[in-house]
Amino acid sequence: MQARDPERFSQVLELLNKVLPDNVRFAGEHSEEDEQYLFLFDGVPTPFSALSDGYRAFIGWVGDLLGHLCDVAPPGTVLDQVAGMVLVDEIDLHLHPQWQRTVVPSLAAAFPLLQFVLTSHSPLVASTVMRENIFVTETEPDGSASLKQLEEHAYGRSMEQLLLSSYFGLRSTRRNLPGRRRATAAQGRRGRYPGRAGLPRPPHRPWQRAGMIKYGSSLEALNAAIIEQVPRWPANAAKRTEALLKQGRFEEKAAIWSQVKPVYIRLQRNKCAFCERQFETPDYGAIEFDVEHFRPKSSVLPWPDARRHSGVDYVQPDAGLPGGYYWLAYQPLNYAASCKVCNSILKLNYFPIAGGRGAPPASPLELESEHPYLCYPIGDSAQDPETLITFVANIAVPTQAEGEGHLRGRVIIDFFELNKREQLLRERAEMITLFGPAFEARAKGNASALHLKLIDKVDDPGLRHSNCLRAFARLWQSDTAQAAQVLAQCQAYWLSVEAPLAAG
Ligand SMILES: [Zn+2]
Repeated sequence: MQARDPERFSQVLELLNKVLPDNVRFAGEHSEEDEQYLFLFDGVPTPFSALSDGYRAFIGWVGDLLGHLCDVAPPGTVLDQVAGMVLVDEIDLHLHPQWQRTVVPSLAAAFPLLQFVLTSHSPLVASTVMRENIFVTETEPDGSASLKQLEEHAYGRSMEQLLLSSYFGLRSTRRNLPGRRRATAAQGRRGRYPGRAGLPRPPHRPWQRAGMIKYGSSLEALNAAIIEQVPRWPANAAKRTEALLKQGRFEEKAAIWSQVKPVYIRLQRNKCAFCERQFETPDYGAIEFDVEHFRPKSSVLPWPDARRHSGVDYVQPDAGLPGGYYWLAYQPLNYAASCKVCNSILKLNYFPIAGGRGAPPASPLELESEHPYLCYPIGDSAQDPETLITFVANIAVPTQAEGEGHLRGRVIIDFFELNKREQLLRERAEMITLFGPAFEARAKGNASALHLKLIDKVDDPGLRHSNCLRAFARLWQSDTAQAAQVLAQCQAYWLSVEAPLAAG
């Protein structure tokens, strides 16, 4: 084809390279010696047969697809302008986890007029697809198959979150705890979904998450974890909430929210919900965290407070709420594990909103109509903090350029003093210093196995300041020169602040 129709051949090359990960390129080169095509793998010429199973299987079916497109495309047509439907079983088969997160978006981008119907068991693949495009198949008791769509969001959620969600229905991702509702492969039933791509593309890729980070968990999963921690807690909480609603104010002798603190510490991977500093695991670290009431339970102070928030003159002041959100004192979706700095020094009893105050017994979800400035990061319906805060080097900035989202980003950064706290600036620079050389090596084409592992690790939500680190990872994708400069600056800063301390 190379000789017969060079134009078509170059389209085939372009499309194939578009759907392959960046570290594998194909220039159409054929090795006479090996009698097969050569690919560039991390810059090294590699015969097709030497590629791993994942690459070979993927190149195999995409090559087949391109072949069929060539067959049906009228002369003079561009291949990516051919419409059609493509069915692919087990799209994630043999694919590296990093690739699983990009395969669907890159296929959708490369073939905008093809509708893909894909099946997969992979939560990584599921996290790249909008809920509307996911269909879960289940086997009914009579053996027939059913197709369902679920309310829960899948897009942008972590692997663990998805495995514990209604899509996969596991009770735990650890060994020895069987699946709760949906079957596991070991039980011989399949919980799989086809996703449709080639349709409107999602607004972000999953690795574009940033800000203080979101901890997705359905209320059901949160309650299950609470019951596992303290079996009678939900019943006690319901009783107390009823009493508080009757009282019309928060007044109690002994509170019970500390009992569930370990649940939130675990869910948040031992990190403060607001500043992403990391502390010890619940067995040792409970003392380092507060159970923070996102909406204050006993009173809400007027905001901005001239003593503390003098710089925040770009939003309407609000009068606070003298009685507080007393009816949410025992509402699991009003809790977060927070460090003592964020909770006891900075947040206190402030809860700034742009709209009007809600009234009892409104739920946290209903209270979203208050237009809160702060962002509650736990739960499926929570706004993802990434949409509000991102990072330039180790500095927090609003994600959005204007509008309500921009204001919220600014308020959160001011409120938690995310750019004033030297410890935060230092820790973020430290993470960039630690991981940066891996990205730099990859950009230069000489990444070692350790470098690649470090790059994969960046997506682990258990890393402290993972939001900042992911923003840094994205910069390597969009602007290598700028990323190298950020790395050099962070290294210089981190070395300079650490050295005097070590010497002293
Ligand atoms: Zn904190």
